[in-house]
Amino acid sequence: MSTPAPLALLREAALLDGHWVQADDGQTFDVHDPATGQRLGHVPLMGAAETRRAIDAAARAWPAWRRRTARDRGHLLRQLGQLMLTRSDELATLITREQGKPLAEARSEVAYAAAYLDWYAEEGKRVYGETIPTPSADRRLLVFREPIGVCAAITPWNFPLAMMARKVAPALAAGNPIIVKPAESTPFTALALGLLTEEVGLPPGLLQVLTGEPRAIGAELCAHPTVRKLSFTGSTPVGRLLFAQSASTIKKLSLELGGLAPFIVFDDADLDAAVEGALASKYRNAGQTCVCSNRFFVQTGVYDEFADRLREASERLVVGNGLHSGVQQGPLINAVALAKVQHQVDDALARGARLLTGGKRHALGGNFYTPTVLVDVQPDMVIAREETFGPVAPLLRFTSEDEAIARSNDTEVGLAAYLYSRDIGRIFRVGEALEAGMVGVNTGLISTEVAPFGGVKQSGLGREGGRQGIDDYLTTKYMALAGL
Ligand code: ADP
Repeated sequence: MSTPAPLALLREAALLDGHWVQADDGQTFDVHDPATGQRLGHVPLMGAAETRRAIDAAARAWPAWRRRTARDRGHLLRQLGQLMLTRSDELATLITREQGKPLAEARSEVAYAAAYLDWYAEEGKRVYGETIPTPSADRRLLVFREPIGVCAAITPWNFPLAMMARKVAPALAAGNPIIVKPAESTPFTALALGLLTEEVGLPPGLLQVLTGEPRAIGAELCAHPTVRKLSFTGSTPVGRLLFAQSASTIKKLSLELGGLAPFIVFDDADLDAAVEGALASKYRNAGQTCVCSNRFFVQTGVYDEFADRLREASERLVVGNGLHSGVQQGPLINAVALAKVQHQVDDALARGARLLTGGKRHALGGNFYTPTVLVDVQPDMVIAREETFGPVAPLLRFTSEDEAIARSNDTEVGLAAYLYSRDIGRIFRVGEALEAGMVGVNTGLISTEVAPFGGVKQSGLGREGGRQGIDDYLTTKYMALAGL
């Protein structure tokens, strides 16, 4: 094992109005390494009062920031992205320690996160307005796109840096301050990004990081009229709650919620590519991404061969502490996550699914789970109806294209979908018919800062990344100039 780098970026305080502070009542909560159970440190357990102060500080910081030019703001953001890359090893180590993913994946996450800073540093300069041909000769009609105001973000633990970066970067680039509440399991990465913003000289109050009680902080962010925009990535039930809580203040919302991604393999697919894509989309981050394939629909002609190849590849995966070299799958985030995965597997087996490999905790114990492949899975099994968020591939059989489409769409969510085929007509027919915000064709990896990420149906609202990702942080103002 390589010696873990010292956690130079670890801060046991929240960042509020440019100061590193504790909760008003001094309470804290502990953060643990999911691979070892070791306590990494503690952070302040803040609540509504501290949240109100952060909102006031953000409101004070806003006017000067919105007056700066987009180029000027972009310059700072680009510097921040650069600094993230310079400190990549330290950030990646922190991510692996509190989140568990293998170091190589953590480094990729840092690069991916930094790319959002770079992208929105540029996109901020392209917030174009328009002029409208006038209906009366003495008038000119202008449309401006303006920063929306104080923004808030509630972020998840699965990509603690990237999910934060793709909210923070467009918010700041558009001319807004933003308050971030990171997940309880992974606050240190968010605080580390706060630390780096100080190093590049971002003025106080523009990026604040509040750790603490999710319900109290969330309720305050939703109910406070000064917060004009809330961006959330997490589970559908919490998204629904935040949506309801934001009704009183008619807040603009972005919601990146759960998915149940279908991964469709047609008889004409390149099976090598399909297995490779399946591995990438299923086991990355130990299956804990919202775009992970959750239901593998495999056409009858290639079902057995695909299942066998996936089993073989799954058995080769190296499971272990993400800090160890060569490890490809780390632990799940905690014991509750592991119990949920086991429950889905047990339910499937009890109802007639067959286990090809895995199906139990890994010999390493703790939060480690063995890569698992299940065949003969039926649509009514829990694993085919609920997000798994773990390293389990359930294989369902289908015969016709129409059946694959209908069964893929038979869910209330629609984030990512994947399909493997070499027939160009089929690719368009199926790709267009799938009810999903994103479709990967002959690939299991679709996330990039240059494209719009988001879902349809109950997978959410809004898009992150791409040129679309800045829209959620802007409002439109129309100005009529009369008497000319
Ligand atoms: P998971 O179950 O995978 O942890 P959650 O949706 O619970 O997903 O968590 C995503 C984020 O939502 C985390 O930052 C968490 O603290 C936050 N969160 C959870 N419950 C609430 C709530 N009631 N109000 C506001 N934020 C919440």
